Amino acid sequence: MRRLLLWMAGNSWLRNRIPRLWFTRRAVRRFMPGEDVEAALEAGVGFQVEGLGTLYTRLGENLTRIEDADQVAAHYRTVLDQIRGRHLDGEISVKLTQLGFDLDVDRTFRHASSLAAQAAESGKSFWIDMEGSAYTEATIAFYERMKAAHPNTAICLQAYLRRTAADIQRLLPLGPEIRLVKGAYAEPENTAYQARHDVDANYLALTVAMLDAKKAGRTVRVALGTHDVRLIEQVAEHAAALGLPRTSFEIQMLYGIRMDQQRRLNAEGYLVRDLIAYGEAWYPWYMRRLAERPANVLFALRQIVG
Ligand SMILES: Cc1cc2nc3c(=O)[nH]c(=O)nc-3n(C[C@H](O)[C@H](O)[C@H](O)COP(=O)(O)OP(=O)(O)OC[C@H]3O[C@@H](n4cnc5c(N)ncnc54)[C@H](O)[C@@H]3O)c2cc1C
Repeated sequence: MRRLLLWMAGNSWLRNRIPRLWFTRRAVRRFMPGEDVEAALEAGVGFQVEGLGTLYTRLGENLTRIEDADQVAAHYRTVLDQIRGRHLDGEISVKLTQLGFDLDVDRTFRHASSLAAQAAESGKSFWIDMEGSAYTEATIAFYERMKAAHPNTAICLQAYLRRTAADIQRLLPLGPEIRLVKGAYAEPENTAYQARHDVDANYLALTVAMLDAKKAGRTVRVALGTHDVRLIEQVAEHAAALGLPRTSFEIQMLYGIRMDQQRRLNAEGYLVRDLIAYGEAWYPWYMRRLAERPANVLFALRQIVG
């Protein structure tokens, strides 16, 4: 089921047709407050009242016209203005291929630099998402380049990749900001752990490595991009055993998923940030959410018949 849904996520024929169906638009509302940024920011204001931070991402990836990247960058500049204007504890999280990474790396760098510089003006970080494994090395090299020019740049790494332990060691001397996720793409066996148990074990080991580095005096912002509460609790136990405070790491979850846990963890003194996605290009992203949990497919089907 996971492989089928991930294949559907990458299929351009389906991508052009499924979003036109009204019932899919209804089903997708579970994971996003609306298609426009205003709905996302409004939701962010509500979360802020509850004490939750936010991340904003406009859906879209693998642009095929470089002019579109200019438009995406301009859009994110207005979002940063809005975050500042509304005094939101919010940051933006962007896919490099949404800024033209497939087409012109230097132009992508200029766009990312301008966004990171603007985010820095209000003391925020600029997050780079991680895409499929064809992009991993290039994204990490891009991060190193960004980090030298804009220290407030942050990156997502994937625990299912066999290489990530080495990538963390490579980045630790830079004082990185790292969101660790399990990984959302279909990757081959030689590149990625396939069994859930192996991915989870690697996730814990990688987080422990980052917290140990922190305890040893390294500068590293650790964000757990997962809804796996059992894993989060294991990480929390390790942090407590090291004598690190609950605020020594952050928990990032997606809008609409395990909201009860987001609120509980926040109430218990952990830093929680909710990632709010918006935009019209939600098809591949939504299919990856379905792939993560087969029960979501049943939920989507209920929206169709109900
Ligand atoms: C803030 C954030 C940013 C992310 N950024 C990236 C990125 O840049 N690159 C990337 O490859 N991946 C990214 N991901 C996705 C990530 O890789 C996983 O695919 C996703 O988080 C699901 O895995 P999990 O860690 O929640 O663990 P799982 O083991 O999949 O899930 C643990 C539990 O959480 C709940 N759950 C998980 N997913 C769902 C869902 N879709 N619907 C309902 N319940 C669910 C279920 O109860 C499940 O049992 C991001 C995830 C988050 C939270």
